[in-house]
Amino acid sequence: MRALLLSGIGVAQEVVDDLDVDLPQEHEVLVRTCACGVCHSDLHFRQGKWTSFPLPLVLGHECAGVVEKVGSQVSYLKPGDHVVGCLTPFCGECEYCLSGRMYICNGGGLNRPEGGKPRLSRRGKPVSQFVNLSGFAEMMLVHERALVKIDPEIPLDVAAVVGCAVTTGVGAVFNTAEVRPGETVAVFGCGGVGLNIIQGAYLAGASRIIAIDRSPAKAQAAQAYGATDVVVSDETVVERVVEMTKGGVDHAFEAVGLTVTAQAAFNVLKPGATATIVGLLPMGDKISVDSTMLTFDRRLRGSSMGSNRFRIDIPRYLKMWQDGRLKISEMITARITLDEVDDAMVALDTGDGITRSVAMF
Ligand SMILES: [Zn+2]
Ligand SMILES: [Zn+2]
Repeated sequence: MRALLLSGIGVAQEVVDDLDVDLPQEHEVLVRTCACGVCHSDLHFRQGKWTSFPLPLVLGHECAGVVEKVGSQVSYLKPGDHVVGCLTPFCGECEYCLSGRMYICNGGGLNRPEGGKPRLSRRGKPVSQFVNLSGFAEMMLVHERALVKIDPEIPLDVAAVVGCAVTTGVGAVFNTAEVRPGETVAVFGCGGVGLNIIQGAYLAGASRIIAIDRSPAKAQAAQAYGATDVVVSDETVVERVVEMTKGGVDHAFEAVGLTVTAQAAFNVLKPGATATIVGLLPMGDKISVDSTMLTFDRRLRGSSMGSNRFRIDIPRYLKMWQDGRLKISEMITARITLDEVDDAMVALDTGDGITRSVAMF
């Protein structure tokens, strides 16, 4: 099958047509990929900022498709079902799953055992599967607990974007930070995830939503998603946000993936407030916080994939889209082919006006 292969760090991914995918084992599902969004996290792996998978590797994790074949023990899905993949599969048995925090389940036992037949291979050699998904390929072979069934009426490009950007951004507001009506919110970064944090904060009833980006165009565009204030970022951003809110915000969100914006998010908090770091910071980076700031009950916390329970959350977000309460189709600024994905991924670091490019199969 055709797939986009990452064979080296910092070099262009190439489209190959000889990637082999195995048949589903007991709890596995073979999905025909229909759409896969290009996300900044993919770029981190292409650039080598994260290196947790051996190469060669097939990236892509914001994906939706149609079930082609199911393993002998799969009862949740059948061929023809429309599905969205999620990069946080749940085992259903560990402490995290049983306490409702399946997004931090380590997915034990959901991968094939090491040394066994790989799900993906090329010319007889194993190819790594990215976060149990590898969406930049015509077929995905995944564990059933990495999938959620969706309404077949929903376009699969919209469904794909819910798989990462919406789940991460809206989930960070609803599930991680639990923003309450009337609270004030500052959002660093107005890309795909940032805009979803902004529209989540709007739905949650935040009284003031400050959209911050170094690109004036991106910050301005956030107004359509519910931002009440627009701040073009520079070295005075912290002082300006603290000043305009007379002492800081209740919630700050980081959706860029940089140490400097993570620190800025903490520094715009009023006492007792929380900064939620949603962006994927480079592996091993350290965030420094002022001890006096910390004393007044401020909190710095991470958010893993919007603290999702994706089989509940994703159908809810899609229903909100159907009801006109969440903007998703507006975020898809380009529908591209697999051959155009590498360029689209690189453009994420520079591109104005690109919210989401979605590869269509
Ligand atoms: Zn993503
Ligand atoms: Zn678990």
